[in-house]
Amino acid sequence: MTQIGASLLEQLLGADGGYRGPRVDCGDGHSARFVGYRDKTITTVLGAITVRRGYYHCADCGHGVLPRDDELGVADASLSPGLRKITAVAAAAAPFAAASTLLAELESGWAPNVSNVPPKPTGPLPPTAKPANRPPSTAARSPSSHPPNSRCPTNSTSPSTAPASP
Ligand SMILES: [Zn+2]
Repeated sequence: MTQIGASLLEQLLGADGGYRGPRVDCGDGHSARFVGYRDKTITTVLGAITVRRGYYHCADCGHGVLPRDDELGVADASLSPGLRKITAVAAAAAPFAAASTLLAELESGWAPNVSNVPPKPTGPLPPTAKPANRPPSTAARSPSSHPPNSRCPTNSTSPSTAPASP
């Protein structure tokens, strides 16, 4: 489950590659140029996750800038309040992810079982069979409801008589 939480957190964070445009402020008033992406592995309570961050380089300062590290507060590889919050969300969502995964597994696993079930549970079947029988019984009723229809013959007889008269 922890593994799911970690992968979930990774997905959440992976939605944002950390690209903040071709240039960002280096922090000293210079313009740092986007160089590429750098992956960073962070150890969280959910496990180790890899975060991708856009890497920028300031030619004036000669140092690299990773805006996302500041945003996530993971420059020192420790969890920031912000990342801790996201981690908490992922941790909370993990049980649901686990549940859905479990459900998916159960469904796939159950499918064959369900096909096997029909022959075994003779008990449950009757109730199911009843409703199935009801339609026919109802159909049987409609013929039995013919008694009122017996009037029809009478009626049909009269009309038939009527046309017969003319
Ligand atoms: Zn600079």
